[in-house]
Amino acid sequence: MTQQSSNKKHKNKNRERKNEAYSITSKLYHFLQSHPDSIIFKKLSGGKTGDYTTGDDEIRLDYRKEIIPTLIHEFIHHLYPALCESKVIAKEIHVMAIISPRQCINILRALASCVQISRN
Ligand SMILES: [Zn+2]
Repeated sequence: MTQQSSNKKHKNKNRERKNEAYSITSKLYHFLQSHPDSIIFKKLSGGKTGDYTTGDDEIRLDYRKEIIPTLIHEFIHHLYPALCESKVIAKEIHVMAIISPRQCINILRALASCVQISRN
């Protein structure tokens, strides 16, 4: 492979990752808007920052920890239920690398309007 085609491949891969990360934040925003009771704030044990059970439309977040990266992480589990933990973490890192202040504000606003306090 020439240096030029290798650079082009690298650029395409970066663009794909950016597009995918943008698609995840956009889907998260719409998920929050369309699922008003989907996010639960609670204290989680065992060092967990968040929790999601596949097939469930409910994401539990420990409000004492990092909310945005955890919300994105758990939402990736929701979007890609077959994905292993290490690949979920890799996607979370890509999203966190490209997320803009505006996207973060939009997600926080949508989150604030749908978050519930755990009853147990
Ligand atoms: Zn996970």
